[in-house]
Amino acid sequence: MDFITVKGLIVKETDFNEADKMLTIMTDSMGLINAKASGIKSLKRKELSGAKPFLYSEFTLAQKGDYYNLREATIIHPFLDIKNDLTDLALGFYILDVLGNIAMEQQPNETLLRLTLNTLFALNKKSAPSQLIKAAYELKIADIEGFTPHTFECMECGAEPEEEPYCYFDVLNGCILCKACSPGEERNILKISPATLNAMNYILDSDIKSFLSFRLDEAILSEFSNACERYFLTQSDFRPKTLDYYKKVMLHD
Ligand SMILES: [Zn+2]
Repeated sequence: MDFITVKGLIVKETDFNEADKMLTIMTDSMGLINAKASGIKSLKRKELSGAKPFLYSEFTLAQKGDYYNLREATIIHPFLDIKNDLTDLALGFYILDVLGNIAMEQQPNETLLRLTLNTLFALNKKSAPSQLIKAAYELKIADIEGFTPHTFECMECGAEPEEEPYCYFDVLNGCILCKACSPGEERNILKISPATLNAMNYILDSDIKSFLSFRLDEAILSEFSNACERYFLTQSDFRPKTLDYYKKVMLHD
């Protein structure tokens, strides 16, 4: 039997029979794949120790019909400190959920995988506030998937946003509008400050290695995270339960 070796992150695990699990893995060379991990719940299967969420691992697979049998999983990089904080853990599961929904089966997307690994790395190290990490990930995913918003000038009149004390972000049409051109705050139109707009432009101008290397005042953080989340959810038309859970945990934090 031919074996395949890939690197990847588990985005979802589903119980399968008594001792097995079906794993959905975002891999470097094959995009999203499903792999059956036989006997993974048994303590004896030490060769599968790398087959858990929040581990970047190398997987050895044997193809079987339209899924794979997992033979071995070896840890390359763990992100297990995420589990020490309930808010971080809830956010981590949301990030994996987003990855699993954006990635396509059998379609490699190295940028998307790298972006997610860099995001988990930051969350694991607590190198930025979790709200900032989440928002930056949402906006950068939209950007790399081709939904880059038009944010350097008013979409209607071309006025530069610096001329205004604030502007409006149209999350449905993916653009900013100046005060004169906007109908004001509406369902899909958010009022945003120059600091939020600058942070968004920083993320859009950065590569996936440095997109988290900025800081925001606490006072701006909630406006900024709301803008990025609303934009991502509107553009992706995706409303994950993991996001509701993250918000519930945040409220009790
Ligand atoms: Zn305008």
